[in-house]
Amino acid sequence: MNRTDAIVIGAGVVGLAIARELAASGKSVVILERETRFGSGTSSRSSEVIHAGIHYAHGSHRERLCIAGKQMLYDWCAAHGVPHRRLGKLTFAANAGERARLEAIAEHAFASGADPDSRWLEADEARELEPALSAHAALFSPSSGIIDSHTFMLSLLGDAEDRGAVLARNALAERIEWHCGEWRVTSGETTLAAQIVINAAGHGSWDVARSTEPLDPARIPPRFLAKGSYFTYSGRVPFAHLIYPLPSHGGLGTHLTLDMTGAARFGPDFEWVETIDYAVNPEAKARFLEAARQFWPDVDANRLAPGYSGVRPKLVGPGQPDADWLIEGPDTHGFAGLVNLFGIDSPGLTASLAIGEYVAGLL
Ligand SMILES: Cc1cc2nc3c(=O)[nH]c(=O)nc-3n(C[C@H](O)[C@H](O)[C@H](O)COP(=O)(O)OP(=O)(O)OC[C@H]3O[C@@H](n4cnc5c(N)ncnc54)[C@H](O)[C@@H]3O)c2cc1C
Repeated sequence: MNRTDAIVIGAGVVGLAIARELAASGKSVVILERETRFGSGTSSRSSEVIHAGIHYAHGSHRERLCIAGKQMLYDWCAAHGVPHRRLGKLTFAANAGERARLEAIAEHAFASGADPDSRWLEADEARELEPALSAHAALFSPSSGIIDSHTFMLSLLGDAEDRGAVLARNALAERIEWHCGEWRVTSGETTLAAQIVINAAGHGSWDVARSTEPLDPARIPPRFLAKGSYFTYSGRVPFAHLIYPLPSHGGLGTHLTLDMTGAARFGPDFEWVETIDYAVNPEAKARFLEAARQFWPDVDANRLAPGYSGVRPKLVGPGQPDADWLIEGPDTHGFAGLVNLFGIDSPGLTASLAIGEYVAGLL
């Protein structure tokens, strides 16, 4: 049987960041990815926004790892030539009725210390930054940005491979067993042994945990799915910053983001679903148009077209307050060398490098 120090299940941005961190600490690492290509799950279906970390519950993994991860990410991008831009973001109140909520968000943001240069803008100040923006007031977060997430993942994999890590593609982790003082992970005809197993399988984390012997099934949280669709906008938009409405339940609201080419997209919206289906419903266009018109009355309906979608793995369902990520290591479940990650939705891309460091520290 082949042996390695660590097996990472899942080659999304989180698994790749953990694998790279473990490889950097001198461990031999094998990454198992069930698809042909790395990063083809949720990690290729995001807004590609580098979040400031201003919106998350104080003390949560999301807040802590986002704030730390943001700085690590900017540093990584600079050192590895990953395309990114620190655009800044405006979260706006559309009318006087939304002002109190924006004030509460601003207070929370200032208290978080996530973005020390963030500031409150009245309507005329917001218009100085974004002349086409129709808003009652806005919160400006200058440390928010955008990133080419695929190049970022490629750089993580390249760095891990340079340190000896190996990516096995088309390698579905089917069974994980604790046997004679080591973990044995089976994929098809192959079994690999290691002292460390990291379950970073995104939507697949629940199946991986269920097939981990002797993990108590009662430890495995419920899984909910929340789809987020995007509509693209052909042609230029008159905005230079990321534009966000007030956050809505479970997400940050249907916002405007720009990619590294300057192309604009609106989304993601938020829809509870039972199964993963990435098709975008063209009939949602009216809703997207309404969301865009809230802050950009001149948006041209003819330029909006269905884009792509992603599905957020969630730990709580409809009507429940949003939950933090669940990252369980030996101290929680009692099994040496095992870490399970559940519900790593946004800002998992921003936080990925800090998640890698945190997970390595749990071992
Ligand atoms: C609509 C949307 C927008 C988002 N926008 C942002 C954003 O702007 N900024 C931000 O910071 N975050 C954002 N996020 C969050 C971010 O995209 C995720 O947190 C991150 O991509 C999760 O990465 P992951 O590696 O955990 O999961 P994934 O990318 O899903 O990777 C898991 C991998 O595991 C593999 N796998 C599954 N089961 C197995 C198995 N049994 N064996 C082997 N391999 C397996 C899968 O094929 C997959 O490649 C967004 C998320 C969504 C859904």
